[in-house]
Amino acid sequence: MAEAALLAVEYGSSVAQLLHGHGYGPGHSVSARAVSEGVWRECPSCDYVGAPASIANHKRKAHTVAVGEQAQGAER
Ligand SMILES: [Zn+2]
Repeated sequence: MAEAALLAVEYGSSVAQLLHGHGYGPGHSVSARAVSEGVWRECPSCDYVGAPASIANHKRKAHTVAVGEQAQGAER
C-alpha cells in the first residue's frame, strides 16, 4: 500500500512537472497567445480554442444537438 501511495505521489508530481515544462501553468497563456497570433481561433459560441479545422469539428460535435439524444434525455 505504501508503494502504491508513493507511486501516486511520484506520478502526480511528474505530470505536474511535465505540464509546467510545456508552459501549461495557471491561466490560459498558451491558448490565448495562439489565438492572438492567429494560429488558433476561438469558438463563437463558447471558450473553446483550436486550429480552424478543430473549431469546425468542435462546433459540429458540441453545438449540434442530435434529435435522438434529445428524445432520450426527455424520457429520463
Ligand atoms: Zn464551442
